[in-house]
Amino acid sequence: MSTQSPGKKGALDWYFKTNLLSRILIGLVLGAIAGIVLGFFPDAIKPFVDNTKFFGDLFVRLLKMIVLPVILFSLIAGAASIAPSRLGRVGVKIMAFYLFTSALAVTIGLVFANIFKPGLGMNIIGDAAIKGKEAAAPTLVQTLLNIVPTNIFESFTKGDVLPVIFFAVVFGLAISFVKDSKIPTVAKGAEALFDVCNAAAESMYKIVTGIMQYAPIGVFVLISSVFAQQGAKALGPLLMVTLVVYLGLIVHLVGVYGGFLAVFKLGFVKFLKGANEAMITAFVTRSSGGTLPVTMRVSEENLGIPRAISSFTLPLGATINMDGTAIYLGVCAMFIGFATGHPLSLNQQMIVVVTATLASIGTAGVPGAGAIMLLMVLESVGLKVEAGTAVAAAYAMILGIDALLDMGRTSLNVTGDIAGSAIVAKTEKELDLAKWS
Ligand code: ASP
Repeated sequence: MSTQSPGKKGALDWYFKTNLLSRILIGLVLGAIAGIVLGFFPDAIKPFVDNTKFFGDLFVRLLKMIVLPVILFSLIAGAASIAPSRLGRVGVKIMAFYLFTSALAVTIGLVFANIFKPGLGMNIIGDAAIKGKEAAAPTLVQTLLNIVPTNIFESFTKGDVLPVIFFAVVFGLAISFVKDSKIPTVAKGAEALFDVCNAAAESMYKIVTGIMQYAPIGVFVLISSVFAQQGAKALGPLLMVTLVVYLGLIVHLVGVYGGFLAVFKLGFVKFLKGANEAMITAFVTRSSGGTLPVTMRVSEENLGIPRAISSFTLPLGATINMDGTAIYLGVCAMFIGFATGHPLSLNQQMIVVVTATLASIGTAGVPGAGAIMLLMVLESVGLKVEAGTAVAAAYAMILGIDALLDMGRTSLNVTGDIAGSAIVAKTEKELDLAKWS
């Protein structure tokens, strides 16, 4: 380090010390400006796009590289941490709440995207056209059936995420049962397997963090190409996506959580007052996992959810319950369909409800994980993110604003975990109602 010139060290230092969110936003703004300026020199667009393509493609490939390993290990570790003794009534109730609200969340996202149609009329073009065959989506029944793999290794090599999610959950649950085995060597082996999967999941998160360090550059390159071809026109749709996502988040918060709490005679305002510290922490850290200590504390201290319930439901929620992410996936899938001139049909939207619900379950509670899962939701409706395609360009636009969207969605993700835990505690008659009066 000491041999480096001060200037060089300064630039690198600046890069790594500046907060990632600011760097990505700088990448987005500079990319947009560079693209708009380039638009005035039509002859320069193609050479620019050709020469910078490598850097954008590199980013897309890095993201795709990490999708399967993240899902696999984080779900195995998550499912394996559920103690079999907990899989009873509380487990069934909380799982039902998590799954139902996630599916509702995608639907809310899709409804608002249908109303506001973000991206409509943009006509983003890429070097490679979306092939007719790829754009043809399977039917809903087929999508549901395809969740169960016939050959898990084939699913891995083909990059089919849903079967991998299914297998990971089943495998994780099996590990949690085997950990209680009467045969000591088997139980010990299962513990070791659990530790290995946990460590592997942590290692994958480290890789994601590393890849995100490159995000500002990837975003700059990808965004500048879009703006060179689209001009300032592209700004409106991005603003629209942001507004639609946040609208969906607010409606879900008030309508779904507020509604559920009311049904169980729990005050919404009291709930918000008790949960707000966790909601704000999630907003700024963009990590459900990272917020977990705060989530646990406010649930107990402010909302009277007993640890016997929250110690199970909250870590589970931080791993699999991502309603904010589900809304985001629905809205963004619609945006990319509109923006590339392939609006999603009703059948495709139903597929999105299934795949986005499962994708939200497979999303790790770390910053930016939802954006990686968007890749698989898009793929499930035939919109493949491949280097040079219009879909990749539209996806890049979303990545540019992803951090902004991540703040809101993570906050809702965490809020959903607390709401579900409070309701389950109430139905179990274990909620300390004195905290709600
Ligand atoms: N950052 C989100 C979370 O931690 C996941 C996502 O990227 O959607 O909950």
